[in-house]
Amino acid sequence: MTEITKQTLSDLVENIKKKKVSSTEVTKAFIERSKKSKKLNTYITENFNAALDKAKKFDEKPNLDLKLPGIPIAVKDLFCTKNVRTTAGSKILNNFIPTYESTVTKNIWNEGGILLGKLNCDEFAMGSSNETSFFGNVQNPISQNLVPGGSSGGSASALAAQLTPVTIGTDTGGSIRQPASFTGTVGLKPTYGSCSRYGIVAFASSLDQAGPMSQNVKDCALLYEVISSYDKKDSTSIDFKRNNYSQKLTKDIKGKKIGVPKEYRVDNMPKEIDELWQKGIKCIKNCGAEIIEISLPHTSYALPTYYIVAPAEASSNLARYDGVKYGFRAEGKNLIEMYEKTRSEGFGEEVQRRIMIGTYVLSSGYYDAYYLKAQKVRKLIKNDFDEAYKKVDAILTPSTPSSAFKIGEKNNDPVSMYLNDIFTVPVNLAGLPGISIPAGHDSQGYPLGLQIIGKSFDEQNIINIAYSMEEKIEFKNNIKDWWIG
Ligand code: GLN
Repeated sequence: MTEITKQTLSDLVENIKKKKVSSTEVTKAFIERSKKSKKLNTYITENFNAALDKAKKFDEKPNLDLKLPGIPIAVKDLFCTKNVRTTAGSKILNNFIPTYESTVTKNIWNEGGILLGKLNCDEFAMGSSNETSFFGNVQNPISQNLVPGGSSGGSASALAAQLTPVTIGTDTGGSIRQPASFTGTVGLKPTYGSCSRYGIVAFASSLDQAGPMSQNVKDCALLYEVISSYDKKDSTSIDFKRNNYSQKLTKDIKGKKIGVPKEYRVDNMPKEIDELWQKGIKCIKNCGAEIIEISLPHTSYALPTYYIVAPAEASSNLARYDGVKYGFRAEGKNLIEMYEKTRSEGFGEEVQRRIMIGTYVLSSGYYDAYYLKAQKVRKLIKNDFDEAYKKVDAILTPSTPSSAFKIGEKNNDPVSMYLNDIFTVPVNLAGLPGISIPAGHDSQGYPLGLQIIGKSFDEQNIINIAYSMEEKIEFKNNIKDWWIG
């Protein structure tokens, strides 16, 4: 049998079901490797002892009908976990222990998953490099001093380093797909309303979606099928017919029409990204699908629109952190001073920047000029996709405009950091599903991803396209365990 931590989720499930390995052995293996991997700084909170206890209990009375029978899984620290500290990567929630469980994580435990720990992320999921976390940078296992992407950077790093067989992240503007692309892993941002937002620390409520991250497309389908559910506790959850996605996988995508949007050929696009895209186009054709050029004319407005809508919603969502109800409180001479000190000491620089922008665009006098205008442009972006989907079944683009960059490289330039999400943000604004799969390497050997965007609720279709492409692309993640020992 292959070394435990090198196995995919699907292999582990099969091996546990066939009793070739126990949940305790699997859990121990991931804990041991996680303990040797502290240099990556992926964990904010470890749950190792509790995980081992759970695994032992599982082995005493194994329920092998479950989809994740006794599988240990570490999750992004944005999901509330009952009685386990949940920080959202922020000082302000440094000592917050939720009394309830997010629906998405509950779905995982209900299928036999075991919480291994809480993974580092950008503060309140605001960032593209995991550098805004109060708990420090995360290293990308691909190479030393390289960012893993963000905001689900700890999740991507832990997954690529084989500290967890799969993981979950959240994606408001690209936070699952961009780190997946930077670490040579698979990440799916589902249709808005597909995975419940209940118990996920809110960033921008009309954009936030949870989704699976995995080593391959099959594992992604399996985890997505576990976490996606209709939930009365989330008023934006949608009651549509969900599949057993992993059972309905097929590599047959013959005759599908795949759109390539001309507006995504952005100025100064690095040659390597263009070449990767061409490789993807060729691969699609080899799979028997047809490529059609399409136009998404409002693409260039997506980033400016996002950076009005997302901060506006964030400023409202983050108003609750006032030192009274949750977490950190700074002392002050009176109530106002206490609020001010708590929020200026408790929030990091990027979060404060978003709150400032958000309150500005929502303030009277500017609301119509900025927020309302952004909402209208958002609709136009959605209309572009609707038009395109009259002609095509899915859309193929690069996931990111570059490979992973060095830690510190973009720290003093927020706009250049924001530009990272140029290919992912439109998908969130339109509420559509998008999957990133590893598809190649740049000249330095760093991974690059391709994104397949689907129609709403058409996850099965983009998963199948990704599955078919994955086989042809034969991507190999070349990770040397430089951080161990
Ligand atoms: N990088 C984007 C931002 O900072 C997206 C983050 C996300 O998807 N959570 O807003």
